[in-house]
Amino acid sequence: MSISTTIYCVDCILEAPEIGDQGFIGMPSLDEKIVPKHKDYDVLQNFGSIYRALSDINLVTYELESFHRFLKEHEGHSIHQSFEGNDDPWPDKLNDYYSEHLEIPEYKISDEGFVNGRFELSAGENTLVTSDEELFLSLEKKILSKADIKNFKKRISKVYEWAGNFFCTFGALDPYGDLGKIVTFIDEFGKIKGGITVQITK
Ligand SMILES: [Zn+2]
Repeated sequence: MSISTTIYCVDCILEAPEIGDQGFIGMPSLDEKIVPKHKDYDVLQNFGSIYRALSDINLVTYELESFHRFLKEHEGHSIHQSFEGNDDPWPDKLNDYYSEHLEIPEYKISDEGFVNGRFELSAGENTLVTSDEELFLSLEKKILSKADIKNFKKRISKVYEWAGNFFCTFGALDPYGDLGKIVTFIDEFGKIKGGITVQITK
């Protein structure tokens, strides 16, 4: 399956920041509501629900935060997700602009407030560090609360089995790599005495 996707704000004629290799994380909505399972097909969760759980545990990559700010700044606007390879025409407004200018401007945030490092979880003697250095929002080291863990399980562990919610994402957000390991770590040590500590290490 080779699908690639690009998301736009049609009202502002602006391309959303890329996630992974032209992938996506859930539906481009800030709604934090968890979409219930369906017996006949896999459901996509809302980006807002996934972001909430990841930010609760301080797992906020530059890409994730960029996309979050894009949705926040364009809330209530007409957001279009285009799937390449599908017969999925652009809205006229994007088409007209593109015909004239031959490119669509891209949304980009500054990397101020971000730090290059790896995401680390520790629980007792056990430690998990993500594989590659990348940009993370610089957040204070913290011990996950019961609510953070509960939220993470509810919003991530239970939806992640269908990787469509993390489509073509890499690094710390790779469901077949680091993210999968983080899910397992939190499931395994969520109730350990002393809790799970998370931090960005350089
Ligand atoms: Zn907009």
